Parts: sequence; structure tokens; C-alpha cells
Amino acid sequence: MKRKVVQFSVALIIISVVITTVLSIKSNIKSFVEEKDSELLNYCKLINNTIEEDYDQNITPDLSYYAKIFSESTGQRITFIDPKGVVLGDSMAGDDYKNLSNHLERKEVQESLKTGEGMSNRQSKSFKESFLYVAAALNQNDETVLITRVAMEINSLQIIRNFIIKSTLLYAAVGTIVAVLIGMFYAGKLMKPVYEMEKQLEITMEENRKAENIRKEFVANVTHELKTPLTSISGFVETLQDGAAEDPEVRTKFLDIIAIEAARLKRLIEDILIISDIENKREVNTNSDINVREAIEETITTIMPIVDAKGVTVKTDFAYEIYIGGNYDRFKQLMMNLIENAVKYSYDGGVVTVTACKIDGKVRVSVKDEGIGIAEENIPRLFERFYRVDKSRSHKVGGTGLGLAIVKHIAALFEAEIKVESKLGQGSTFTVIFKN
Ligand code: ADP
Repeated sequence: MKRKVVQFSVALIIISVVITTVLSIKSNIKSFVEEKDSELLNYCKLINNTIEEDYDQNITPDLSYYAKIFSESTGQRITFIDPKGVVLGDSMAGDDYKNLSNHLERKEVQESLKTGEGMSNRQSKSFKESFLYVAAALNQNDETVLITRVAMEINSLQIIRNFIIKSTLLYAAVGTIVAVLIGMFYAGKLMKPVYEMEKQLEITMEENRKAENIRKEFVANVTHELKTPLTSISGFVETLQDGAAEDPEVRTKFLDIIAIEAARLKRLIEDILIISDIENKREVNTNSDINVREAIEETITTIMPIVDAKGVTVKTDFAYEIYIGGNYDRFKQLMMNLIENAVKYSYDGGVVTVTACKIDGKVRVSVKDEGIGIAEENIPRLFERFYRVDKSRSHKVGGTGLGLAIVKHIAALFEAEIKVESKLGQGSTFTVIFKN
């Protein structure tokens, strides 16, 4: 991507430099030639002025001499031609000017006779060199009496033209190199946000792919989890219908199993609804302060039947009143899942301790049990949906495998962190650390 941008910029720079260079060379040469034209024409006019004074004083000018001295002072070839084309003096021919052919047909002479001024850019017919000829007519009483011509050697014009081309090309090359270097330096900087956007896009796409996979897996798991109790229920119903209902003892046993499975199904559906509810609503912690002690005590009261059935003692320890910001019901749901697990995985008659305190400005709520504990290698996977360390044990205690997944979701809503400490056979401590 960066290479393409650099290539494009370099191409753009080169194209614009080439166009500018060509135009600049053309216009420089044009203005140089125009300047030379007018300079040579000025010479012609100045010379004419001088000669005109001779005519005014009825002196016949020594044109061969004038050609020589004006050529020395201007550095150019000077020719005097009469209106019939006869050469009256020429600095290059010197005394041999009389041998020069008639100049009447020369372009600059013709133009001067017609308009007073003439110009021609051509090879000399008398000498080998090419000249830029500029001529001006000298008039007396509205009649042309003399044509003064100044010629500049094209060779020297060519040298200057080459100099203009060379120097313009050199400036253009230096400019191109500087522009390319600056372009390359800034290309990286300019491309940075594009790279970052690209990277962000890749991350988002990867996250979307992962989320889609998790969703697919979840749907497959849900289907499987719902199917198990349903298959069991329909199986026992069918057996009862087939005659098993006649035996009161079998009937009671089967109906109990059906009731247990139905309750499990209900719990599963409730947990799935809670998860999708949290995922869809994504509430922010805008609700009023939660009294942590009050919420935990209410939760314990709700699950008292399970606590009593296991003969577990639930102790609480709140040194002072603690408040956190967030959704009251969600907080209770989180505590319920943690305390319920602590009770479920405690040994009969065990002790569960719930504490809340504030350390370094952060509220820490812990649920500790002295139950079966969790092996270290299983801890990282505990919060996955439907993950159970021991599937049959979870089944026996009425687990859905979604409790800790719900805890993780709610903790994320509160922007809280969860820590698990556990030793197999000795118990576990789940700690939730809230930011505020
Ligand atoms: P479940 O409904 O199976 O309890 P959870 O998501 O609540 O599902 O917990 C996942 C698994 O983590 C449980 O099956 C259990 O193996 C383990 N677990 C959770 N809490 C405890 C605990 N306090 N003591 C021991 N194991 C636990």
C-alpha cells in the first residue's frame, strides 16, 4: 500500500516537473529571443539616429567606417543597405563590402521597406554563419534612404539557449529529488492512520468471526442441553402411557424424575434468557448506589431452601456499609450464582462465608467455601458457557453450566474483575473486584 502511494506520488511529481520544465524552457527562450530582438532593434535605431544627424547636416556618412565602429561597440555584425538593395557598408566584409551581392530580396530588408522594421532568423547568404537579423529603415522626408541591419550570430544565441535548457533541467532535477525525498518521508506519516484503520478493521473482522463462531457453538450447545431433559421427559411419559402408570410405586418414581427434568429445563431456559438479555441490553452503570450488604442478605434469603437442604451455614462479614454503582438486580444475580455454587459444591454441613470490603478504593466481594475445590488446570475454563468440571456432579446438584458464564457477563457490565482461588478437596474463593 505504502509502495503504491509512493510510486503514485513520484509519478505525479515527475509528470508535473516535466510539464513545468518544458513550459518554462519554452517561455524562457521565447522571452530571451524577444529581448534580443528588441535589443538589436534598439541598436539599429540608435545607429540610425546618429547617421540621421549627418544627413541633416548634408554630410555623406562614411558607412563602411560606421559599420566598423558600431560593430566594435555593440559586438554584432552591422550592415548598411540602400533602398535598392546595394550594400553600402558591412563590418564583417570590411573593405570588400562592394563585392557583396544585392540585398533587396533579404527578408528583413523587404520587411523594413514595407513597415520600417524587419526580422529574420536564417543562414547568411554571404557567409557560412547563421544570424538573427534585425533591420530598421532610416527615412528622410517620408522616403527610405538607408536600411541599417544588426545581425547576431545564431551560434551565440544557441549557447545561451543551451544554457537556459541546462540550468532549467538542473533546477528541475534538484526540485524533483527534493520533492521525492520529502514525499517519501511524509508518505509513511500520512499512511499511518490508514495502516491503523486497516489494522483496526482486521481486528474487528477477527472479533466478528470469533463472535459468530461462539454464537454458533452456543446454539449447538443450547440445542443439545435442551434436548437431554426433553428426551428424558418424553421417554418417561411414554413408559407411563404404555402401562407403567398402573404401578403406583413406579408411577410416583417416574413422575418425580419428570418433575426434576422439567425443573432443570426451566432453569436452563431462565439462564439462557438471562444471558441473551445481558448481551442484548448492554446496560451501563447508571443506576443508583447499591447497598452491598442489603443485596447480599436478600440473595441469601432467596436461596435459603437450598442452603437448608444441604445443612450448610452461610456466614457474612461486612465491617461497614459499602456501596457500588450499577444495576441492583444484576448485582443480586451475580451474588446468587456465586453463593449458590458455593453451597452446591460444599460438603454437607459445610460453611460458606461471604465478605465485602474496600481495599485501595476498590470494593471486593468474596464468596468462600470449604467444598470440593477445583483443580488448577480447570480454572481457566470455568467461565465458559456449559463448561462443567464434573458433568454428572453438576447434573446431580441441578447445575446448568451457565451460572459462571452469567457471572462473567455481569462482571463485565460492572467493569469488574473476577479472581478464583481454589484447592482440590479444600474449597474455593471467588472474588469480584469492582472499580469504584
Ligand atoms: P453449574 O451450573 O454446572 O454449576 P457454573 O457455570 O456455575 O455451572 O460452574 C461451572 C463449573 O465450575 C461447575 O460445573 C463446577 O464444576 C465448577 N464450580 C463452580 N463453582 C464452584 C465451587 N464453588 N466449587 C467447586 N467447583 C465449582
